[in-house]
Amino acid sequence: MKNVRKFCKLFLLLLLATASQISCQTSGSVSALPAGPRAFLLPETLKPGEPYVVAVAGYPNAPVRANLVLNGQKTGSGRFFDLGEKSAAKDSVYCAIMAVPSTSGAGSAVLTIETANGVLTEINVTVEARQFPVETIALTAGMQDILTRPDPQKTREAEQLWAILAKTGSDLYSDGNFIMPVNSTFQTSRFGTRRTYKYPNGRSSTSIHAGVDWRAPTGTPLWACAPGKVVLARQRIVTGNTVIIEHMPGVYSLYYHMNKISVLEGNLVETGSPLGEAGATGFATGAHLHWEIRVAAENTDPASFLNGAVLDKEAILARMNQ
Ligand SMILES: [Zn+2]
Repeated sequence: MKNVRKFCKLFLLLLLATASQISCQTSGSVSALPAGPRAFLLPETLKPGEPYVVAVAGYPNAPVRANLVLNGQKTGSGRFFDLGEKSAAKDSVYCAIMAVPSTSGAGSAVLTIETANGVLTEINVTVEARQFPVETIALTAGMQDILTRPDPQKTREAEQLWAILAKTGSDLYSDGNFIMPVNSTFQTSRFGTRRTYKYPNGRSSTSIHAGVDWRAPTGTPLWACAPGKVVLARQRIVTGNTVIIEHMPGVYSLYYHMNKISVLEGNLVETGSPLGEAGATGFATGAHLHWEIRVAAENTDPASFLNGAVLDKEAILARMNQ
């Protein structure tokens, strides 16, 4: 009996010692998370025409590119950049800002994250369905001419625009928290609208509206929606007087049909910096601002950028350190 009591006492002491060891280990792990690979999307559910951020840390090799494959088809890609922040495990955090094309359907998708040498990891994600408005626009003979007449200058301008929008730099001028670039409350055409153009010659064609049109009489002041660098400020045949600002790697805002431009290519702008005046230059039925946001070359709903930072560092690090 005496032996049994002694054994029980010893067992209890052993149990207490183990418990204190466990509690030491637990309190030690609060200050530094164990290093380990992490990769996720923000937001976790995607929609056509909306941006998302892919965040990666803790892998032995740095991510270079991400590709989204939806229902077996490649549905956009993006390039990674260094966020300039470390996770709690002291790993560099890499991000890619991407967008689901406005033409995308719904379904189950796989996001593949690649290094220079191969696949790093894959994430399963759902793309939800989205309905877009429909409209028919009757064109004047002059508008039909702008749209359909072959012109080498128009081709050069299109190539120049695509070269800009396809470029993913590394400068973070903004966190993706944008403001309205014009004082207007009336949208004359919404993002993603499926358009039919009726020509005076009886023919027709279709197009998808890549931005938002805000009613704005000629002369209405326009300003930068966020900090950035002016990468294009010139007259173009189709879009009239045009300004493009680079805000984040692969993220650009575009302003079309302006009456006057008051910035130069290479200028750095702040949120609210004057860009010029609204007008009806180029392919326009009347004075308005066509405001467009491009993400990894995809046209993206500007409303997504008016509801908070798209590249929310705090949210990314909080999720990374969970
Ligand atoms: Zn427009």
